[in-house]
Amino acid sequence: MRKTLIATTVAAALALSACSDNTAPQQTANQQTTAEASNTAEANSGNPLMIKSTLQYEAPNFTEINDDHFLPAFVEGMQQHMAEVLAIANNPAPATFDNTLVALEKSGELLTRVSRIFYNLAGSNSNPQRREIQSELAPKMAAHSDNINLNPQLFARIKSLYNQRNDLKLDSESVRLIEVYYERFVRAGAQLTDEQKTAIRALNEEHSTLTNQFSQNLLAETKKIAVVVETKAELDGLSESQITAAANAAKAAGHEGKYLLSITNTTRQPVLAQLSNRELRQRVWQASANRAQSGDTDNRPLVARLAQLRAERAKLLGYDNWASYGLEAQMAKTPQAVFDMLGSMVPAVVANTNKEAAAIQEMIKQKGGNFELQPWDWEYYAEFVRQAKFELDENEVKQYFEFNRVLKDGVFYTMNRLYGVTFTPRPDLPVYHPDVEAYELFDADGTSLAIFYADYFAREGKRGGAWMSSFVGQSHLTGQKPVVVNVMNIPKAPAGEPTLVSYDNVTTMFHELGHGLHGMFSDVNFPTLAGTSVSRDFVEFPSTFEEDWAANPEVIANYAKHYQTGEAIPAELLQKVMNSRSFNQGFDTLEYMSAALLDMEWHSLSADEALQDVNAFEAAALKKHGVDLVAVPPRYKSTFFSHSMGGGYSAGYYAYMWSEILAADAFAFVQSQGGLKLENGQNYRKNILSVGNSRPPMESYKAFRGQEPTTDALLIRRGLKTKVD
Ligand SMILES: [Zn+2]
Repeated sequence: MRKTLIATTVAAALALSACSDNTAPQQTANQQTTAEASNTAEANSGNPLMIKSTLQYEAPNFTEINDDHFLPAFVEGMQQHMAEVLAIANNPAPATFDNTLVALEKSGELLTRVSRIFYNLAGSNSNPQRREIQSELAPKMAAHSDNINLNPQLFARIKSLYNQRNDLKLDSESVRLIEVYYERFVRAGAQLTDEQKTAIRALNEEHSTLTNQFSQNLLAETKKIAVVVETKAELDGLSESQITAAANAAKAAGHEGKYLLSITNTTRQPVLAQLSNRELRQRVWQASANRAQSGDTDNRPLVARLAQLRAERAKLLGYDNWASYGLEAQMAKTPQAVFDMLGSMVPAVVANTNKEAAAIQEMIKQKGGNFELQPWDWEYYAEFVRQAKFELDENEVKQYFEFNRVLKDGVFYTMNRLYGVTFTPRPDLPVYHPDVEAYELFDADGTSLAIFYADYFAREGKRGGAWMSSFVGQSHLTGQKPVVVNVMNIPKAPAGEPTLVSYDNVTTMFHELGHGLHGMFSDVNFPTLAGTSVSRDFVEFPSTFEEDWAANPEVIANYAKHYQTGEAIPAELLQKVMNSRSFNQGFDTLEYMSAALLDMEWHSLSADEALQDVNAFEAAALKKHGVDLVAVPPRYKSTFFSHSMGGGYSAGYYAYMWSEILAADAFAFVQSQGGLKLENGQNYRKNILSVGNSRPPMESYKAFRGQEPTTDALLIRRGLKTKVD
């Protein structure tokens, strides 16, 4: 996401992130004194956003901030930032590293602060006013970025430093900073003619408005399409607490006495594994799969235009298509490398999926069904196959994954064993919602490292999915330490009952804290290079790496205990959980790969192609790659594919698998070195987690691993291969 055109400043795309939000605003604080800050505050009549928070590590004082504070702070922030940038660009002295790049890194303090706070809250705690502000800001922020990225005087200074970068006697991080800036400006269009710059500005503004509209439609649509169920009998298969939650949701939405099933973000819906009523399953699935395809929240025209617009933008910048433009800045480098990687896996994955489908069809027959397997049947009958094969009852398993134990005795415990760190509750720090908990992260020697907010539970106004983001980024230059948040959508148990977590959500908690530590262990000079500001196909590596610790025997023994009796998960049940992890891997991998291929196809269109019919294009793209299985639709369809269409991961959804190659290889390597121990954690932290983007990613990987990764460990991890050749 960082690599989009709006990257130079605070990206509007922050609100549209995927799993990991690495859209860190690029400029951070001036070394402003408290006294100066107070003067600013007086001039701006008590708007708390105008000054640095006096809380630890500038953690936002949420109790003082209200929605009326945002727009004035954005307006003032953009003005201040632009004045600072122009002073740098028009400085009569020749360009030096300090008067140009260090100055840029220090500029935009207010805008960075307000953006991080606002876009975080717009994603995790939205409301009508915040949505309105977002729409108003989208084109203004795009224009603001262009005013910087397309400033010829500024680019001339950066170019001059770039040309002499190896003769300036700078350290390697500083040289890297010059290269990153140079590349960013060139990719944003700094070398274009004035006429071309005008054209690209118009495209950027339109892009920003359309992606914002896409997300807002989706948010409105998700609320609109929640499935109202008339009778409790239809909910057969759900637990009592799920039924209570559905009744409460219905009441809150004005359907008292009925039940409301909300739609979560992927095509597949978790309740489909439980509902015995086939008609209701079909309704739920169709509500999900046909999302944003009608009325005033129809995203199809936006999808078609976004694909075309990105192609036009790529053409202006000298590329065949948006995918070629996007991939150049990634580890993968070319679209072909991505198509090759995905394509090489299609035959094995489709073969596995077909085997799974046959077993499910057989189960339908055994259960007395006389119909052909449809997407809304897959998970319900897969659950029977799973039980027959592994005798595994998800509800029984969940009883050993109580939320607080998972977090403290599982996730935090692992981080302590690997990195020596501890998380201490900080109930004194203000939070933006009562469900959010604040912690302080301490290093092994007692040094305070960061503030961490845990925001794990689903609620209205929160975007679907799970992600990490930052309220404050790390930088030695600005003296800032990280303030990081993890956001998830775990269904919260009714008041007074313990929240039991699915094993999937357990691994997601490890995953998101992996991103979190990438932010919190950051140890670099420049804000632009800090923490998760790495290429998109690298950023999921640190998070995916942490996932497999959830199943480590020592870790499991410490947290997987019955929520009532405290008894350890029985060895036999645990073995079943582990065995069953290979179950449904064909489906899981195929639905992901279909979405990744769809994303690549949308962004392989050239600028001279006409607007596409979205449904026809989607069908053709899946067919072309041999992944058009009726019962296994893509994980996201185009109209609700926020990663791809919202902008953050356009031509980049493949990145999860690319990162997984690194993660699986790294995890296997650590296992070969003795597994869960400090030495391994320290090597990983030093070479991967703390360095951010201060050196090329492959260099970091080799420093940690001693060699480049191979795909063996990934294929084994996914059960697509049994041993190393
Ligand atoms: Zn992630």
